[in-house]
Amino acid sequence: KEILDEEDLDSLEDRPPVLTIMGHVDHGKTTLLDYIRTSKVVASEAGGITQGIGAYVVPVPIDGKLQTCVFLDTPGHEAFGAMRARGARVTDIAIIVVAADDGIRPQTNEAIAHAKAAGVPIVVAINKIDKDGANPDRVMEELASIGLMPEDWGGDVPMVQVSALKGDNVDELLETVMLVAELQDLKANPHRSAKGTVIEAGLDKSKGPIATFIVQNGTLKKGDIIISGEAFGKVRALFDEKGNHVDQAGPSIPVQVIGLNNVPIAGDEFEVVSSLDAAREKAEARAEALKNDHIATQAGYGKVTLSSLASAVSRGRLSGLDVHQLNIVMKVDVQGSIEAITQALRVLPQDNVTLKFLLQSPGDISTSDVDLAVVTKAIILGFNVKAPGSVKTHADNKGVEIRLYKVIYDLIDDVRKAMEGLLEPVEEQVTIGSAEVRAVFTSGSGRAAGCMVREGKVVKDCSLRVLRNGKTVYVGVLNSLRRVKEMVKEVNAGLECGIATNNFDDWAVGDIIEAFKRVEKRRTLEEASATMAAAIEKTQI
Ligand code: GDP
Repeated sequence: KEILDEEDLDSLEDRPPVLTIMGHVDHGKTTLLDYIRTSKVVASEAGGITQGIGAYVVPVPIDGKLQTCVFLDTPGHEAFGAMRARGARVTDIAIIVVAADDGIRPQTNEAIAHAKAAGVPIVVAINKIDKDGANPDRVMEELASIGLMPEDWGGDVPMVQVSALKGDNVDELLETVMLVAELQDLKANPHRSAKGTVIEAGLDKSKGPIATFIVQNGTLKKGDIIISGEAFGKVRALFDEKGNHVDQAGPSIPVQVIGLNNVPIAGDEFEVVSSLDAAREKAEARAEALKNDHIATQAGYGKVTLSSLASAVSRGRLSGLDVHQLNIVMKVDVQGSIEAITQALRVLPQDNVTLKFLLQSPGDISTSDVDLAVVTKAIILGFNVKAPGSVKTHADNKGVEIRLYKVIYDLIDDVRKAMEGLLEPVEEQVTIGSAEVRAVFTSGSGRAAGCMVREGKVVKDCSLRVLRNGKTVYVGVLNSLRRVKEMVKEVNAGLECGIATNNFDDWAVGDIIEAFKRVEKRRTLEEASATMAAAIEKTQI
C-alpha cells in the first residue's frame, strides 16, 4: 500500500519519524519509553498529564533545536506483527532493546525478524549497562553472529549502550535514531486530505467508538468524513495524547478520533472521503470484499504450503521457467536443534528452490509467528514444539501452513520432497454429506438454517461449504447442530436439522450445504514419482 500518490510529489515536506521499541520481555522497553516520554515531555510542558492513546509525540533536542519524533506505545513485536499482517507499515525505525546482562533471547530474535521482514531500519539499544554482569561486547558479538553487524565494527547497524533506568546515553540513542531518520528522507504532503493507519481502537462508554490514528499523509481535520474498513463517520472531535482538543493533525502525528459509527481495527488504514454517502458505499463494498476474501482463504486459495510449492516446482520443471524461494519461519524446542536442522537443510540441492529463514528461534508457535508468515508468505515449521489451538485458528484464518514434526528426518524429508516437486498434498477434502436449506430462522445468537439432510450425514464441527446456485458463498465450520431443539453430534440423511456457523448467517432457502472432512493424506514417494512421471509423459506427447 503506497501512502504517497504521484500528485503529492510537488508538495512534499519533511515529517517526523515514527518509532517502535521492541525486544524481549523485561529487557527495558517500558522503562526506556517512560524515560524518554517523561524526561522530554516534562521538560517541554511541565505538568502535562498524558493519557494512553497508544502513541507519544516527543520533542528531541538536536544541535540545540527541538525536533519531533513519534513513539508508538506498543512495546513488544506482537502489535507490530499484527499491524504488519494487516498490511500496515507505520514504523520508520525499530529500536531493538537488548539487556546487556542477558543478551539475545527468543523475543529479540522475533523482533528482529519482524523489523527485517518489514524492511524497517534497526537501531539497537544495549540496555542496563549500569548493572553488574552487563556485557555489551558479548551482546554485540551475538548480534553480529545473527547478521546485525555493529556500526562500530564496520557494519551498518547503529548500537548505543544505555541505561534506561538512569537515563545514561538516552540522548545519544535519540540522536542516533534521528540521524537514521534523516537518511530516510521522510516526507509527506500536508496539503491534502488525510490518510493513515489505525493504531488503537475501542469503545468508550460515553464517547462511543474511539480510535487513535497515525496520519501518514495529508492533514486530518475536524469535520472530515473518514472511513476505515467498514467503519465510517464524521470527525466530531480530535484529541492529542494529553487529552487536549486539537483542530487538526498533520503527517506522522497520532490523534484520537471520535465520530465513527463502529470500532475500526488496529492496523487497518483510514482515509478521508468526500461525503457520508461515499463512505457508506465504500464500507458496503468492503464488507462484501471481506466476505469473499474469507471464503477464498477458507478454501485455501493463495495459501503457501509445502505441497503448493511442490506442484509449482513440478510445473516449473515441465516448463523450465520458474525459480522459487521458500520462506520459512522455524520454531524449535532448543537452540541446538536450529543448528542441526539448518545444517541438514543446507546440504539439500537448491537448484529449483532456495530456502530463506525469516526466523529460527526456540519456543512454541505464537500468533506473532503466524503474522510474520502472513507478511512474508512463509510456512511455519515446528520441531518438538506446540501450536496452541488459538494459534492454529489464527493460521487457518490467515491461510498460513503450520507443519509440526517430532523427528528431524521427517522435517528434512518433507522440505526436500517439496523442493524437488514431489510432495503431495497432506490434506484431502472428503465429502461426508449434503443438506438443503428449507427455512431460515432466528435463534438466540443469530440466524440458523433449517435443513434436510439429503445424502450421507452432517457432523458437528465438520467443515462446510455453502453453495447458492452452484456458487460457493461460504466455507467454514459447522459450529452448531440441532435436531428437534437438542444439540446433537450428527444427523443422517432423510432427517431435518438446524445448522449454524459462527462467521456466517446469511442463509437463503435453497442453499446447499456440503459437509466435508479434511483428512490427512500421505502418499509414498513412489506414488508421487509415478504421478510426476505420468505428468511429464503427457506434456511430451
Ligand atoms: P519490558 O518488559 O521490556 O518493558 O521491561 P521493563 O521496562 O518493564 O523493565 C524490566 C525490569 O528491568 C524493571 O524492573 C526495570 O526497572 C529494569 N530495568 C529496565 N531498564 C534498566 C536499566 O537500564 N538498568 C537497570 N538496572 N534496570 C533496568
